[in-house]
Amino acid sequence: MLKSKKPLIAGNWKMNKNLEEISKFVDVFLKSGVENNKKDVLICPSYLHIEFLIKKLKPYGVKIGAQNCHFREKGPFTGEVSAPMFKEIGVDYVMVGHSECRTLRNESNENINLKLLNVLKNTMHVVLCVGETLEERKNFRALDIILNQIMIGLNNVKNFDEVFIAYEPVWAIGSGKLPDLEDIKNIMKNIRDFVRKKYGIRAADEIGILYGGSVDSCNSSKILSIKNVDGLLVGSASLNIKEFIKIIKS
Ligand code: PEP
Repeated sequence: MLKSKKPLIAGNWKMNKNLEEISKFVDVFLKSGVENNKKDVLICPSYLHIEFLIKKLKPYGVKIGAQNCHFREKGPFTGEVSAPMFKEIGVDYVMVGHSECRTLRNESNENINLKLLNVLKNTMHVVLCVGETLEERKNFRALDIILNQIMIGLNNVKNFDEVFIAYEPVWAIGSGKLPDLEDIKNIMKNIRDFVRKKYGIRAADEIGILYGGSVDSCNSSKILSIKNVDGLLVGSASLNIKEFIKIIKS
């Protein structure tokens, strides 16, 4: 399953929306015709709502993803879900390393790498989330932190066509604060250069790089026009269907 070269607009719904709200979202989404836009659209709902959205939106080309997975394929891990389980029900994408998972679940880079390898082994796309905290940024450690997360996160990856990196400054997530566009440009370039140096020209060309953190319909087109930005990872603004449609059209 090769990655399309269209920009990817991904919505991370986190622990939000019930079935009634999702049904309304789907109705408005399909009436808008936005699924035929020149972008790929990915929605990552709660695990419980994945199958519902697969039935409703996958026939229209919308990709449905999981917000995390376990690093083992099966075993005594109460409350967890594995990559093959997601694959079995038709999931296309799995996010790993979101800052909320890194913090709340104490996930290490090594652990995240195991998850990522598992997702690829099960022939799904993976979105590796990376980003620095405010303190790390203030101490001029942002780039070191990000590149280290990428270096360990991508360990043993051979094929980059199914891989996305989402650069999400932790301090920008849900805060309404956006880095300067020049900052985003610089980090994105450094990420692409790093992948090129470490894995070669083909890997750098194949990998998708997304920006995430306080994206909304007012800033989305500016961010999408930055060199090396292949798409957006959108949290809060993806919950509001009108906002999300505007972002997809931007
Ligand atoms: C996120 O949590 O992945 C995110 C990007 O959130 P928000 O858009 O709300 O900042």
